[in-house]
Amino acid sequence: MNSVRKFNGDEYVDLALNENQVTDLDEMLSFMNHHKKVYLFGRGKCGQGVYKYLKTCNLTDGVDFVTSDNLDDFIVKYEKGTDGVILSLKADYFRDILPKMWGKIDSDDIFFLRERSKEIFVNSFSDEYIKNHFWISLPIAKHCNINCSACSMYAPLCDCEFYSLESVKKDLSKIKEIGLSFAYINITGGEPFLNPEALEIIEYIRELYPSTRIDVYTNGLPLLKFKHDQFNRLKNCEIELQITEYKPTKGKLDYVYEMMNYSQISYRVDFFEETKSFFKKPIDLVNEVPITEYINCQYYAYCFSVFIFNGVVYKCATALCADAINKYAGGKLSVTEKDYLDLSNIISSDQIYDFWKSRLPMCRYCPRATESFEWKKSERKIEEWMQHE
Ligand code: SF4
Repeated sequence: MNSVRKFNGDEYVDLALNENQVTDLDEMLSFMNHHKKVYLFGRGKCGQGVYKYLKTCNLTDGVDFVTSDNLDDFIVKYEKGTDGVILSLKADYFRDILPKMWGKIDSDDIFFLRERSKEIFVNSFSDEYIKNHFWISLPIAKHCNINCSACSMYAPLCDCEFYSLESVKKDLSKIKEIGLSFAYINITGGEPFLNPEALEIIEYIRELYPSTRIDVYTNGLPLLKFKHDQFNRLKNCEIELQITEYKPTKGKLDYVYEMMNYSQISYRVDFFEETKSFFKKPIDLVNEVPITEYINCQYYAYCFSVFIFNGVVYKCATALCADAINKYAGGKLSVTEKDYLDLSNIISSDQIYDFWKSRLPMCRYCPRATESFEWKKSERKIEEWMQHE
């Protein structure tokens, strides 16, 4: 089993990747299939979150709520094997409610959600949580100079395409105008420093958002050509550089680290003892992925963010890079108007948050991420991103 670190908005968390993941969400759906009527215990954030998820999946027929207030009435009406109760509330409350249920409701008719799933239902469906943890990503160059197989940003499939300073200015002034609030900005790629206007873009963003955290993700290679004054400009922008070392850069970035130390630039390096394990987010262009799967995607579970590129808002890299994917996949990835937002049509920041919460039609192409493998260079074959190689 490999381990992959993912940023959840606050901190890095280790994700264990299991080849045949069966989550308690699968078990919950199976529990629902085995009961004619399902009651969500709790009308709080978790219960509401589970209900909203089921509504998105068109699964709310026969679903109702039960709370401590009407538990006695429920017990009178309860039919063993027909009625099921999903405990969608904090474990802190179990001590109060479980003694009232034991002996009256069969244990096979009670479903316990695990804490991690409850956390997803509470956070990913709560307007307040989403707004407090939101970030925006600006992929200022879509292509890359390393080209990792199965790159999560599809960089090997992307043409040399930049987000120009002029477009960034136009889009961020719109973002300001609608008052979208977010905790921080990621400048990313591809490899962002391939953009000849990268420094000017970073300087502009710092001027526009003087106190917002700005992270810049890079593989570090373009910084080998940076001179002292360019490092100084980065320093003055008070960014945090997030450098990921890959097999081709191992041992080659000493100059960059020296210069960053000298210039007192804040940076963090992700490196791996041997080679980086890649977390593959596969796409399936043949089979339709069940609607219930979308909640397992990182972009719903812990990436409270959108990508903005050339006047368009995207929820995920798959939507952002759909054109590039289609060039290699014979146009099989169909994109609808619900898969992105045109910034020029947006009049309120809530439209962006609502878009983030919605399931994209494109989610039907995304099976649960199940694979990880050691770094290798891309051969630019669509199979590298497919579920079955
Ligand atoms: S299309 Fe949906 S499931 Fe796939 S990566 Fe994007 S948000 Fe996630």
